[in-house]
Amino acid sequence: MLGPMSVRPPSVDRVLRSAPGAAAVARFGHEATAVAIRAALARVRVGELAAVPDQVALAAISALEAAAVPSLRPVLNLTGTVLHTNLGRALLAEAAIAAATEAMRHAATLEFDLATGGRGERDDHVRALLCELTGAEDAIAVNNNAAALVLALSALAAGRETIVSRGELIEIGGSFRLPAIMESAGTRLVEVGTTNRTHARDYEGAIGPATALVMKVHTSNYRVEGFTAEVAPRELAAIAHAGEVPLLDDLGSGTLIDLTRHGLPRERTVADAIRDGADLVTFSGDKLLGGPQAGFIVGRRDLVARCAKHPLKRALRLDKIRLAALEATLRLYRNPDRLAAELPTLRLLARPAAEIRALSERLTAPLAAWAGTGWAAEVIDCQSQIGSGAMPVETIPSAGIALTPAGRASGAAVEALAARLRGLPVPVIGTIRHGALRLDLRCLEDAAVLLAQLA
Ligand SMILES: *Cc1c(COP(=O)(O)O)cnc(C)c1O
Repeated sequence: MLGPMSVRPPSVDRVLRSAPGAAAVARFGHEATAVAIRAALARVRVGELAAVPDQVALAAISALEAAAVPSLRPVLNLTGTVLHTNLGRALLAEAAIAAATEAMRHAATLEFDLATGGRGERDDHVRALLCELTGAEDAIAVNNNAAALVLALSALAAGRETIVSRGELIEIGGSFRLPAIMESAGTRLVEVGTTNRTHARDYEGAIGPATALVMKVHTSNYRVEGFTAEVAPRELAAIAHAGEVPLLDDLGSGTLIDLTRHGLPRERTVADAIRDGADLVTFSGDKLLGGPQAGFIVGRRDLVARCAKHPLKRALRLDKIRLAALEATLRLYRNPDRLAAELPTLRLLARPAAEIRALSERLTAPLAAWAGTGWAAEVIDCQSQIGSGAMPVETIPSAGIALTPAGRASGAAVEALAARLRGLPVPVIGTIRHGALRLDLRCLEDAAVLLAQLA
């Protein structure tokens, strides 16, 4: 099929001296280009590629470009899950991005007190804000909420007992299991009650001299329904305090504001938990709060201080980049009226379904054209999820586009279409349901990015 030139491949040098070969050297360096050319020449020898220097060089450039695509890169999250753990959870506010960028580029006051010229404390950048926004006496920030729990349990309950309801022994994302976290922190788990019902007397009967903590865990990714009973947070705090042990409330998502103001389902706030008598509250930075990955321990000053002094704190601490982003994110909460405009997580969650439907109608034809013959595209009503375990049952009305294979439904065809979307320069991630590929457009704010690559 290829001409007689395919018999004798050009030399590596000859390809390097071609115009595209020289361009490749300028972009990727001599070493990497020569390696890619040798690989391309191997394809010439088996007849896959013409023995033309320019074409060999172009094949090498394609391979070098493919290898240069970053592994961690932006995607369009059209799954309908706003805080998608596998897609990196919260999108940061512009103020947080700017603060993180400045922190990356310059030396910063990470542990430096400008007033005294002496050593400062890294938690000082967020402590006052966290206290102001939650009503807590003191606060520290660590790597994530799992770290906050490991630290709090290690500092306060190692070698002693922690009491938890059987109905709250959660697993989050495959690797976070509460019993395993407790074991690694060296505290003995004392389970009380049953899966569906736990009463005040169950806790009261379990508190003894070896008890270090009573713990309440937000069952953030499931709900027990039917014949159920749990002890209200305020009553549980009273029980713990009567037994002279602190109550640790793991809120998980932990919003700082009343979400019903934005038309969203009610979620207990961190301030609610503090007001209800929790001595310590742990929660995440990159769930409903809308910041970078982080975890917080807020609450009683003496208990937070014990966590801060524990050797694990150093291992779990935040770097200047995330602290800068966190401080900027928390500052946005000082102006609740601007919050929905400036915090992407809230903006996306509160986005009206009618607006998403209008966008879906605009994008249906371009998507259908891109999918090609054999595919039907239609606007659908769907339900977005908050994600990351926040409010597992409540969903938010949304809209999107379903792509369905015409004629006999084929699972393989839908899988192949999903793979084509993932193969775009900015990969598009949808979900497959009922034999169709569904794209929930709630999180598509910049339609131009999608349109440009469909064209
Ligand atoms: C999400 C969650 C965690 C873990 O938080 P990360 O920030 O992902 O480490 C712990 N507890 C609860 C209740 C959660 O919802």
